Order: sequence, then structure tokens, then C-alpha cells
Amino acid sequence: MISSLLLLSLAASPNESALKAQLARFAPTEIRVDLKSLPASERAVLPPLLRAAGRMDSLYLAQVWAGNAQLLLDLSQDATPLGKARLHDFIVNKGPWSRLDGDAPFLPGIPPKPAEASYYPSDSRAEVDKLIKGATGDLKQQVTSFYTVGRRTESGALVFLPYSSVYQEALALVATDLREAAKATQQPSLRTFLEARAAALLSNDYRASDIAWMDLDSSIEPTLGPYEVYEDGWFNLKAAFEAFISITDAAETKKLQSLGARLQDLEDHLPIDHEYRNPKLGSAAPIKVVNEIFCAGDANHGVQTAAYNLPNDEEITRAKGTKRVMLKNVQEAKFQKVLLPISKQVLSPAAQKHVSFEAFFTHILMHELMHGLGPHEAPPGSQKTVREALGNTYGTLEEAKADISGLWALQQLVDKGALPKSLEQSMYSTFLASAFRTLRFGLNEAHGRGQALQLNYLLDKGAFRKIAGCRFEVDESKVKDGVRDLTHDIMTLQAEGNRAKAESMLSTLGVIRPDVKCALDRLGKIPVDIEPKFVTAEGLSKE
Ligand SMILES: [Zn+2]
Repeated sequence: MISSLLLLSLAASPNESALKAQLARFAPTEIRVDLKSLPASERAVLPPLLRAAGRMDSLYLAQVWAGNAQLLLDLSQDATPLGKARLHDFIVNKGPWSRLDGDAPFLPGIPPKPAEASYYPSDSRAEVDKLIKGATGDLKQQVTSFYTVGRRTESGALVFLPYSSVYQEALALVATDLREAAKATQQPSLRTFLEARAAALLSNDYRASDIAWMDLDSSIEPTLGPYEVYEDGWFNLKAAFEAFISITDAAETKKLQSLGARLQDLEDHLPIDHEYRNPKLGSAAPIKVVNEIFCAGDANHGVQTAAYNLPNDEEITRAKGTKRVMLKNVQEAKFQKVLLPISKQVLSPAAQKHVSFEAFFTHILMHELMHGLGPHEAPPGSQKTVREALGNTYGTLEEAKADISGLWALQQLVDKGALPKSLEQSMYSTFLASAFRTLRFGLNEAHGRGQALQLNYLLDKGAFRKIAGCRFEVDESKVKDGVRDLTHDIMTLQAEGNRAKAESMLSTLGVIRPDVKCALDRLGKIPVDIEPKFVTAEGLSKE
């Protein structure tokens, strides 16, 4: 049966072919992981763990909008081609609003996407705001908790209820699955996390399980529960349910450790005044490279997550720091389905041959590591952070710094024999193609604007050059100097805390020039991202 919602204003919503065009922006992609290295005990962990992870979808749908469950049921029962396209779009977007199109509804009769999601009563914004600012003690704790929702009592009073009671039934099933998985594993850190997380879902106290997550050293890397707060468009307070189930990539983790061991040496040779270098780097935040088997809930809608940094609870991060998880096979899927086709449009035929996933991924790792290098105080020793000094230009400059100094660092490591010589040929062309991928996300975002700055700077220096047909290539005789000079300029600006210089650099270079736009304009038909098909997970869930 089709609900009355679907019968309203049919004319205004996209038809089947329009829906298919929307969906074509996500290239269907099989996500596989090689499980051969897993012993039988750990393989047995996966079916119950995947069951638990799958339950995040309905929890998340309920958080996004109270109407989602009924709408999904209605769409599932519509067997027409239009109905099927609608269901597909609903599943990709986790609701009836297209996330790539400013949350425009793609189904008839759908209200605008509620910014408060189902975290608060729709009429309570001012009331909640007052409580956040004014409440004290237990009440403040309840209002500002990641893990409560605001609801009205029958008398109209606003109360905050724990997830453990609001989602009691679903969470009890998740906890049972996690405990079954915990029984199967022979890895103590994994068992500790799974048991602690099962307890957290039922008690609403997540601290012990967040600490256990930081301490994981197992071949299976699960992230499951309420985490990110972006869906709370009012206050960024309430956490959305999600799951990533992954397998640790042992070879990449080893590579990362060997890169990590060279960071002090890189810092000592940064192309900046020696007074701006840090003679003793602190310990870097842990990074794990994994391959994703499955993701669900807030982790699986629209553009796919390729890396994440958790936990968000500051009480935990003060004591334990944060951990960054990089999803290598997801990065590779994006490389194949998006970056390679882009490179064919924007690079010269010769440069296209040098584009490689190895260079792409190694640069991403180096980008993450380089956030920890370079000036963090402006000026060094002043106790004033670069973030404070640069204000709203900080994010863009810091992302550009990590990108460009990451490229500089790769060249250093190649020169010292720590990375293969072949990387030298591939990394600059890969970086150039990747710049166009990032620019497609727009200049409103730190990575996009930071990339525009780098591309224009390197074009001005002749490190990259434009050739006929609005294509681009690397000038091998100038690129090393260009990369070193930009690393110098950004890091020096950061050390000086020179906000005026940052603003002027961004206003001249952080733009899309006509020279670059003509190439961007050709990328319209290339997918924006992938739509994952979890082939390995499907096989496991049949076991
Ligand atoms: Zn970054």
C-alpha cells in the first residue's frame, strides 16, 4: 500500500530518469577484503559483528527523521520502476533528501529536512539553547550529553532521555550480537572492546568502551555506536549511530611505522628558518590503516567516508588522545572510479600514465603525518597557537600545508632511499590529477580552497603547466623547487602568525581561475563518489 504522503504533489518530484541521473553520480563499486589471513576464531567473530553493524541503519534512520521508518516500508512495497528508483535513492541518502543537492527532497509531499533531526522537539530550539547556556549540574549533563534526546512529556515539559531507554529494544539486540562476537574472539583487546561497548549501549555510559577502542590492537577493527554529531544541525551535540567493520592492513601499518620513525629527521630539514623547526616532536596520534568490510548508519550515506578520527568525547581525548582510521580499500575504490577518469580528462596523455594508487595513498598517509610537523605556535615558544593567530584562515592554510609539505616529504624520503624511486615519477602527476578531484568539492571547504591555492601557486611557478586542449602536466625541472617554496611560504606564514598575509594569499590564489575552470567543466559526467556493494560482508552473512 502507498501511504498518503506519496500521493501529494506528484508533479513536483523527480521522475524515474531524473532519479537515475541523480544516482549515476555514485558509481556502484564492489567492496571486498581478503580474509585468508584470519584464523577460524576471528572469522567466527564477523557474522554476529556484521549483524550488530547492520542494525545501525534503522537506528540512524530513526534519528534523521521520525517519518523514515514508515516511508521505507511504503517504498519497499512499490514494485514499479519509479518506486524502485525511489527506494534506491532513499537507501543511498538514508532518507528522502538528496545530500548532494542541498538536501532537496526527491519524493513528493516531503517536508524540508529538519535541521534538528529527531533529536529535539521541532519547537524547542530556544528552550534548548537556554538550557545549554544556563543549566548546571545533572540537568546540564543531560542536555549536553552526546547520548540523550529531547522529548516533550504529556504536560508539555521538555525532558532529555538516554539513548539506552529511547532505543532500548534495538540496542538490546545489538548488545547480544556484540557479546556473541566477544565470545568467539581470541584477541583480548577486541574482546574487551566488544564487551565494554555492549555494556555501554545498555547503560548509556560510553567512556570505558571508548578507552577500549583506543587500545584495540586486533586484526579486526570495529567502530560501532553513536559517534559523529553533524546530523544535529541545531547544536552539533547529539551523536548518530554508525558502524565501520574493517580488517587491519598489516603491510600498510608497517609502512606507516617506518614513515613515522623518520618524522623528526623530516622536521629537522623542513625548508624554513631553523628557529621555526621543532627540535623535539611530541608523540604522533596513532593512525591505523584498515580495509573496510562493511559500514552502516551515519557511516553510509551520500559521499563515503574514507578516513575518520575518533573519539569526540573531550574527557577521553584529553586522557588518551584520538585515533585516525584510514580505509584503504575505500580510498582505492574512489581512486579507480573517480580519480582515474578525472586524470584522463585533465592530464596530458604522457602524465596520465604516471597516475598510481600507490602514490595517491602514500601521499594521503604523509598528509596526515605532516599535520604534526611545522610550526604550531606563532611565533614558536609564545604559547599562542597558529590557530588563534590565523583565525578563520587557519583551516585552509593548515590543509594546504599538510598537502604540499606531504609532497615535499615524499621527495625527501625518495632521495634518502626510504621510498622507491618509482614514486618520484608518479607522485607529482597523481597529485595534479587529485587537485582537480578536490576542487570539485568547491571553495567553501578547507580542502578545496587549500587545493586551489596550491594549484595556482604551482602553475604560477611553472611547476605545473597548461598545454593545448586545457590539459595539464608536470614540469619535472621546476616542480621540486615549486613544492619546496610553497612549503616554505605557508609554514613561515604560520610561524609568523601573519593573518594579513594569509588573507591576501587566499584572495589571490584561493580561487578558480578560467585556466583551471575549463578543465573542471569537462568533469560533469564523472561520478562524484562510489556506492559500495559489500560483497565480502554479504558472503559472510550467509554463513
Ligand atoms: Zn588534513
